[in-house]
Amino acid sequence: MAKPLILDGSRVAEATNQKTMQRVEKLREHGVIPCLATILVGDNPASETYVRMKGKMCERLGMKSLRIHLPEETTTEELCQQIVELNQNPEVHGILLQHPVPSQINERKAFDTIAIEKDVDGVTSWGFGQVSMGFGQFPSCTPAGIIGILDYYQIPIEGAHAVVIGRSPILGKPVAMLLLERNATVTICHSKTLDLPSCLRMADIVVAAVGKPHFVQGDWIKPGAVVIDAGYNEGNVGDVDFESCSKVAGAITPVPGGPGPVTISYLMKHTVDSAERRV
Ligand code: NAP
Repeated sequence: MAKPLILDGSRVAEATNQKTMQRVEKLREHGVIPCLATILVGDNPASETYVRMKGKMCERLGMKSLRIHLPEETTTEELCQQIVELNQNPEVHGILLQHPVPSQINERKAFDTIAIEKDVDGVTSWGFGQVSMGFGQFPSCTPAGIIGILDYYQIPIEGAHAVVIGRSPILGKPVAMLLLERNATVTICHSKTLDLPSCLRMADIVVAAVGKPHFVQGDWIKPGAVVIDAGYNEGNVGDVDFESCSKVAGAITPVPGGPGPVTISYLMKHTVDSAERRV
Protein backbone atom coordinates (compact mmCIF):
# COMPACT_ATOMS: atom_id res chain seq x y z
CA MET A 1 0.00 0.00 0.00
CA ALA A 2 1.30 3.50 -0.87
CA LYS A 3 2.23 5.80 2.00
CA PRO A 4 -0.78 7.70 3.37
CA LEU A 5 -1.25 11.43 3.02
CA ILE A 6 -0.24 12.99 6.33
CA LEU A 7 -2.91 15.48 7.40
CA ASP A 8 -0.75 18.15 8.98
CA GLY A 9 -2.73 19.93 11.70
CA SER A 10 0.00 22.54 12.25
CA ARG A 11 -0.31 23.61 8.63
CA VAL A 12 -4.11 23.91 8.89
CA ALA A 13 -3.71 25.84 12.16
CA GLU A 14 -1.23 28.26 10.59
CA ALA A 15 -3.52 28.91 7.60
CA THR A 16 -6.42 29.57 9.99
CA ASN A 17 -4.26 31.82 12.22
CA GLN A 18 -3.11 33.90 9.24
CA LYS A 19 -6.73 34.67 8.32
CA THR A 20 -7.58 35.38 11.97
CA MET A 21 -4.65 37.79 12.27
CA GLN A 22 -5.89 39.81 9.28
CA ARG A 23 -9.36 40.02 10.81
CA VAL A 24 -7.88 41.14 14.14
CA GLU A 25 -6.02 43.95 12.35
CA LYS A 26 -9.27 45.17 10.80
CA LEU A 27 -11.06 45.06 14.15
CA ARG A 28 -8.25 47.02 15.78
CA GLU A 29 -8.69 49.71 13.11
CA HIS A 30 -12.27 50.01 14.45
CA GLY A 31 -10.94 50.28 18.00
CA VAL A 32 -11.97 46.74 18.98
CA ILE A 33 -9.42 44.28 20.38
CA PRO A 34 -10.83 40.76 20.48
CA CYS A 35 -10.47 39.43 24.01
CA LEU A 36 -10.59 35.86 25.28
CA ALA A 37 -11.10 35.39 29.02
CA THR A 38 -9.74 32.12 30.41
CA ILE A 39 -10.73 30.76 33.80
CA LEU A 40 -8.52 28.25 35.55
CA VAL A 41 -9.68 26.73 38.83
CA GLY A 42 -6.95 25.12 40.95
CA ASP A 43 -3.37 24.25 40.12
CA ASN A 44 -3.49 21.33 37.70
CA PRO A 45 -0.13 21.71 35.88
CA ALA A 46 -1.44 20.41 32.53
CA SER A 47 -4.38 22.86 32.68
CA GLU A 48 -2.00 25.69 33.57
CA THR A 49 0.06 24.86 30.48
CA TYR A 50 -3.04 24.81 28.24
CA VAL A 51 -4.22 28.18 29.58
CA ARG A 52 -0.75 29.68 29.12
CA MET A 53 -0.62 28.41 25.51
CA LYS A 54 -3.99 30.03 24.79
CA GLY A 55 -2.82 33.33 26.29
CA LYS A 56 0.35 33.25 24.20
CA MET A 57 -1.63 32.55 21.03
CA CYS A 58 -3.87 35.55 21.78
CA GLU A 59 -0.76 37.73 22.05
CA ARG A 60 0.68 36.33 18.81
CA LEU A 61 -2.51 37.12 16.89
CA GLY A 62 -2.80 40.65 18.30
CA MET A 63 -5.67 39.77 20.63
CA LYS A 64 -6.12 40.34 24.34
CA SER A 65 -6.33 37.63 26.95
CA LEU A 66 -7.77 38.06 30.39
CA ARG A 67 -6.63 35.33 32.74
CA ILE A 68 -8.67 34.50 35.82
CA HIS A 69 -7.09 32.05 38.25
CA LEU A 70 -9.32 30.84 41.09
CA PRO A 71 -8.25 28.73 44.09
CA GLU A 72 -8.74 24.95 44.22
CA GLU A 73 -11.49 25.25 46.88
CA THR A 74 -13.71 27.56 44.73
CA THR A 75 -17.41 26.66 44.96
CA THR A 76 -19.84 26.32 42.05
CA GLU A 77 -21.55 29.56 43.15
CA GLU A 78 -18.26 31.51 43.27
CA LEU A 79 -17.25 30.21 39.85
CA CYS A 80 -20.67 31.01 38.36
CA GLN A 81 -20.51 34.53 39.85
CA GLN A 82 -17.14 35.05 38.12
CA ILE A 83 -18.60 33.81 34.83
CA VAL A 84 -21.57 36.20 35.18
CA GLU A 85 -19.14 39.11 35.61
CA LEU A 86 -17.34 38.10 32.42
CA ASN A 87 -20.69 37.73 30.63
CA GLN A 88 -21.43 41.34 31.55
CA ASN A 89 -17.98 42.69 30.66
CA PRO A 90 -18.34 44.33 27.20
CA GLU A 91 -14.59 44.05 26.56
CA VAL A 92 -14.68 40.25 26.76
CA HIS A 93 -15.74 38.47 23.55
CA GLY A 94 -15.10 34.86 24.48
CA ILE A 95 -14.99 32.83 27.70
CA LEU A 96 -13.08 29.61 28.15
CA LEU A 97 -13.49 27.60 31.34
CA GLN A 98 -10.53 25.21 31.44
CA HIS A 99 -11.60 21.72 32.34
CA PRO A 100 -11.47 19.49 34.25
CA VAL A 101 -12.54 21.61 37.23
CA PRO A 102 -12.11 20.37 40.84
CA SER A 103 -14.64 17.68 41.82
CA GLN A 104 -16.72 19.86 44.21
CA ILE A 105 -17.78 22.03 41.26
CA ASN A 106 -20.86 21.28 39.18
CA GLU A 107 -19.11 21.57 35.82
CA ARG A 108 -22.30 21.45 33.74
CA LYS A 109 -23.85 24.27 35.77
CA ALA A 110 -20.68 26.34 35.34
CA PHE A 111 -20.51 25.70 31.59
CA ASP A 112 -24.19 26.57 31.18
CA THR A 113 -23.66 29.90 32.96
CA ILE A 114 -21.51 31.08 30.04
CA ALA A 115 -23.53 33.46 27.82
CA ILE A 116 -24.26 31.77 24.48
CA GLU A 117 -22.73 34.66 22.48
CA LYS A 118 -19.44 34.24 24.39
CA ASP A 119 -19.41 30.42 24.34
CA VAL A 120 -16.48 30.30 21.89
CA ASP A 121 -15.43 26.85 23.14
CA GLY A 122 -18.87 25.36 22.41
CA VAL A 123 -19.45 23.92 25.87
CA THR A 124 -22.96 25.10 26.76
CA SER A 125 -25.98 22.79 26.42
CA TRP A 126 -27.69 25.46 24.36
CA GLY A 127 -24.69 25.80 22.04
CA PHE A 128 -24.56 22.02 21.57
CA GLY A 129 -28.30 21.99 20.83
CA GLN A 130 -27.87 24.70 18.20
CA VAL A 131 -24.96 22.84 16.58
CA SER A 132 -27.08 19.68 16.50
CA MET A 133 -29.91 21.61 14.83
CA GLY A 134 -27.48 22.89 12.21
CA PHE A 135 -27.30 26.58 13.16
CA GLY A 136 -24.69 26.63 15.93
CA GLN A 137 -22.51 29.73 16.13
CA PHE A 138 -19.55 28.11 17.84
CA PRO A 139 -19.14 24.36 17.68
CA SER A 140 -16.78 22.85 20.21
CA CYS A 141 -13.25 23.67 18.99
CA THR A 142 -11.71 20.22 18.45
CA PRO A 143 -14.72 19.02 16.39
CA ALA A 144 -14.68 22.28 14.40
CA GLY A 145 -10.93 21.80 13.84
CA ILE A 146 -11.44 18.23 12.63
CA ILE A 147 -13.87 19.46 9.98
CA GLY A 148 -11.33 22.21 9.21
CA ILE A 149 -8.65 19.57 8.55
CA LEU A 150 -10.95 17.56 6.25
CA ASP A 151 -11.89 20.72 4.32
CA TYR A 152 -8.30 21.96 4.06
CA TYR A 153 -7.27 18.68 2.43
CA GLN A 154 -10.48 18.64 0.34
CA ILE A 155 -11.58 15.28 1.69
CA PRO A 156 -15.19 14.70 0.65
CA ILE A 157 -17.53 14.37 3.62
CA GLU A 158 -20.89 14.18 1.84
CA GLY A 159 -21.98 10.59 1.38
CA ALA A 160 -18.98 9.20 3.26
CA HIS A 161 -19.54 6.74 6.08
CA ALA A 162 -17.94 8.35 9.14
CA VAL A 163 -17.41 6.29 12.27
CA VAL A 164 -16.74 8.27 15.45
CA ILE A 165 -15.37 6.40 18.46
CA GLY A 166 -16.40 8.29 21.60
CA ARG A 167 -19.53 10.21 22.61
CA SER A 168 -18.31 12.88 25.02
CA PRO A 169 -20.20 16.20 24.97
CA ILE A 170 -17.10 18.15 23.89
CA LEU A 171 -15.78 15.81 21.25
CA GLY A 172 -17.51 12.64 20.09
CA LYS A 173 -21.10 13.92 20.01
CA PRO A 174 -20.45 17.35 18.44
CA VAL A 175 -18.07 15.98 15.78
CA ALA A 176 -20.73 13.41 14.88
CA MET A 177 -23.30 16.23 14.56
CA LEU A 178 -20.98 18.32 12.37
CA LEU A 179 -20.30 15.35 10.09
CA LEU A 180 -24.03 14.64 9.87
CA GLU A 181 -24.69 18.28 9.00
CA ARG A 182 -22.23 17.84 6.13
CA ASN A 183 -24.23 14.84 4.89
CA ALA A 184 -21.97 12.03 6.05
CA THR A 185 -23.62 8.81 7.19
CA VAL A 186 -22.52 8.71 10.82
CA THR A 187 -22.05 5.83 13.25
CA ILE A 188 -21.14 6.65 16.85
CA CYS A 189 -19.32 3.93 18.79
CA HIS A 190 -18.61 3.84 22.54
CA SER A 191 -17.52 1.51 25.29
CA LYS A 192 -20.65 -0.65 25.00
CA THR A 193 -20.41 -1.08 21.21
CA LEU A 194 -20.31 -4.74 20.24
CA ASP A 195 -17.65 -5.64 17.69
CA LEU A 196 -16.03 -2.25 17.21
CA PRO A 197 -13.56 -3.54 14.57
CA SER A 198 -16.46 -4.58 12.29
CA CYS A 199 -18.01 -1.10 12.60
CA LEU A 200 -14.68 0.55 11.82
CA ARG A 201 -14.06 -1.59 8.74
CA MET A 202 -17.12 0.10 7.13
CA ALA A 203 -15.72 3.60 7.67
CA ASP A 204 -14.48 5.94 4.95
CA ILE A 205 -13.64 8.42 7.72
CA VAL A 206 -12.63 7.34 11.23
CA VAL A 207 -12.53 9.82 14.12
CA ALA A 208 -10.91 8.40 17.24
CA ALA A 209 -11.84 10.23 20.45
CA VAL A 210 -11.41 7.51 23.05
CA GLY A 211 -8.69 8.59 25.48
CA LYS A 212 -6.83 5.28 25.20
CA PRO A 213 -3.29 5.26 23.78
CA HIS A 214 -2.72 3.32 20.53
CA PHE A 215 -6.30 1.99 20.72
CA VAL A 216 -7.30 1.82 17.04
CA GLN A 217 -5.48 -0.97 15.21
CA GLY A 218 -4.49 -1.14 11.54
CA ASP A 219 -6.48 -4.31 10.85
CA TRP A 220 -9.68 -2.50 11.95
CA ILE A 221 -9.31 0.05 9.14
CA LYS A 222 -10.67 -0.20 5.60
CA PRO A 223 -7.83 0.23 3.08
CA GLY A 224 -7.67 3.87 1.96
CA ALA A 225 -9.79 5.25 4.84
CA VAL A 226 -9.15 8.69 6.31
CA VAL A 227 -8.12 8.42 9.97
CA ILE A 228 -8.37 11.39 12.32
CA ASP A 229 -6.78 10.87 15.71
CA ALA A 230 -8.24 13.34 18.23
CA GLY A 231 -6.66 11.52 21.15
CA TYR A 232 -4.03 13.10 23.29
CA ASN A 233 -2.64 10.89 26.01
CA GLU A 234 0.31 11.07 28.35
CA GLY A 235 3.62 11.11 26.49
CA ASN A 236 2.14 12.86 23.40
CA VAL A 237 0.45 9.67 22.25
CA GLY A 238 -2.79 9.50 20.26
CA ASP A 239 -5.71 7.05 20.35
CA VAL A 240 -4.66 5.53 17.02
CA ASP A 241 -1.83 3.05 16.57
CA PHE A 242 -0.10 5.17 13.93
CA GLU A 243 2.39 2.49 12.98
CA SER A 244 -0.18 -0.14 11.94
CA CYS A 245 -2.92 2.27 10.76
CA SER A 246 -0.62 4.27 8.49
CA LYS A 247 0.09 1.08 6.52
CA VAL A 248 -3.61 0.83 5.58
CA ALA A 249 -5.06 4.36 5.70
CA GLY A 250 -5.24 6.68 2.69
CA ALA A 251 -4.75 9.73 4.92
CA ILE A 252 -4.00 10.08 8.62
CA THR A 253 -3.31 12.75 11.24
CA PRO A 254 -0.16 12.48 13.35
CA VAL A 255 -0.03 13.05 17.13
CA PRO A 256 1.26 15.55 18.04
CA GLY A 257 0.46 17.84 15.11
CA GLY A 258 -3.07 16.63 14.30
CA PRO A 259 -6.28 18.16 15.67
CA GLY A 260 -4.40 19.64 18.70
CA PRO A 261 -2.99 22.83 17.12
CA VAL A 262 -6.14 23.32 15.02
CA THR A 263 -8.23 23.32 18.21
CA ILE A 264 -6.45 26.42 19.54
CA SER A 265 -6.65 28.18 16.19
CA TYR A 266 -10.44 27.62 16.13
CA LEU A 267 -10.75 29.00 19.65
CA MET A 268 -9.07 32.19 18.42
CA LYS A 269 -11.19 32.25 15.26
CA HIS A 270 -14.40 31.90 17.26
CA THR A 271 -13.35 34.73 19.60
CA VAL A 272 -12.80 36.98 16.58
CA ASP A 273 -16.17 35.87 15.09
CA SER A 274 -17.76 36.95 18.37
CA ALA A 275 -15.92 40.32 18.41
CA GLU A 276 -16.93 41.03 14.79
CA ARG A 277 -20.59 40.53 15.67
CA ARG A 278 -20.31 43.39 18.11
CA VAL A 279 -18.75 45.99 15.82
P1 NAP B 1 -13.96 11.01 27.41
O1 NAP B 1 -14.93 12.01 27.89
O2 NAP B 1 -13.25 10.15 28.39
O3 NAP B 1 -14.76 10.06 26.39
C1 NAP B 1 -14.15 8.91 25.89
C2 NAP B 1 -15.16 8.18 25.02
O4 NAP B 1 -14.53 6.99 24.55
C3 NAP B 1 -16.43 7.75 25.78
O5 NAP B 1 -17.57 8.06 25.01
C4 NAP B 1 -16.25 6.25 25.94
O6 NAP B 1 -17.46 5.52 25.88
C5 NAP B 1 -15.41 5.88 24.74
N1 NAP B 1 -14.64 4.67 25.00
C6 NAP B 1 -13.89 4.38 26.08
N2 NAP B 1 -13.40 3.13 25.97
C7 NAP B 1 -13.86 2.63 24.82
C8 NAP B 1 -13.73 1.37 24.16
N3 NAP B 1 -13.00 0.37 24.70
N4 NAP B 1 -14.35 1.19 22.99
C9 NAP B 1 -15.09 2.18 22.41
N5 NAP B 1 -15.26 3.39 23.00
C10 NAP B 1 -14.66 3.60 24.19
O7 NAP B 1 -12.84 11.66 26.51
P2 NAP B 1 -12.86 13.00 25.59
O8 NAP B 1 -12.82 14.20 26.45
O9 NAP B 1 -13.89 12.88 24.54
O10 NAP B 1 -11.42 12.86 24.93
C11 NAP B 1 -11.09 11.78 24.07
C12 NAP B 1 -9.64 11.92 23.65
O11 NAP B 1 -9.47 13.14 22.93
C13 NAP B 1 -8.64 12.00 24.81
O12 NAP B 1 -7.44 11.38 24.40
C14 NAP B 1 -8.41 13.48 24.99
O13 NAP B 1 -7.14 13.79 25.55
C15 NAP B 1 -8.47 13.94 23.56
N6 NAP B 1 -8.84 15.36 23.38
C16 NAP B 1 -8.07 16.07 22.54
C17 NAP B 1 -8.36 17.39 22.31
C18 NAP B 1 -7.48 18.15 21.36
O14 NAP B 1 -7.45 19.37 21.41
N7 NAP B 1 -6.76 17.45 20.47
C19 NAP B 1 -9.43 18.01 22.94
C20 NAP B 1 -10.24 17.25 23.77
C21 NAP B 1 -9.92 15.92 23.99
P3 NAP B 1 -18.63 5.62 27.01
O15 NAP B 1 -19.35 6.91 26.70
O16 NAP B 1 -19.45 4.42 26.79
O17 NAP B 1 -17.92 5.66 28.34
